[in-house]
Amino acid sequence: MLGMQKAFMEVDNNKLQPAEMDGLKVVSFGFFAEQAHQAAIYRGPIISGILKQFLVDTNWSNLDYLIVDLPPGTGDIPLTLAQTIPITGILVVTTPQDVASNVATKAIGMFNKLNVPIIGVIENMSYFICPKCSDKHYIFGEGGAKRISEQFSIPFLGEIPLNSGIMEGSDKGKPIILSHPTSPSAEAIRVSAKNVAAQCSILAAKLKEEMQGTAAQ
Ligand SMILES: [Zn+2]
Repeated sequence: MLGMQKAFMEVDNNKLQPAEMDGLKVVSFGFFAEQAHQAAIYRGPIISGILKQFLVDTNWSNLDYLIVDLPPGTGDIPLTLAQTIPITGILVVTTPQDVASNVATKAIGMFNKLNVPIIGVIENMSYFICPKCSDKHYIFGEGGAKRISEQFSIPFLGEIPLNSGIMEGSDKGKPIILSHPTSPSAEAIRVSAKNVAAQCSILAAKLKEEMQGTAAQ
């Protein structure tokens, strides 16, 4: 999606050097696959080990945000993550279908048990802006993510439309936010990102207070 198919990670002073695009540093399991189309299949404990390396043994330097893109649902990876580093919060990304909502609901339940805060929920593929009538068509149903946000009292942070431009841009390694920055889809992504950043600031301040509180005891 970032045009990094040929990217590979270099090692410098025993630290992984992340690939970089437009100020975004990236490490990925995908870089380990010999060819871009070859899926990386590893067992849970090995993935957990690699994840720890990505977190600890990578030359990240100073970051504004560290985002870990997790597989859907519950499993070893979120558990390892929660046990390895303090997490500001979990951002739940779902689609309107009931099946996706069920997966998201289970994940929220797991992170609640682990005492990891939930940043909020974003709905992807929310609607399709029809080129013929310019109306929003809710192809996969309406309000799935909003229902989750109400059920768990977590913020609803945005909806990303279904748009062939996003898909084409991702295939070409040119994110729509860079290639068509004024398009409605790019605007929807920007609004969602701002909402996420605002919630992260609130949660980070809380986390800092808690850590200082613990240190003072
Ligand atoms: Zn239409």
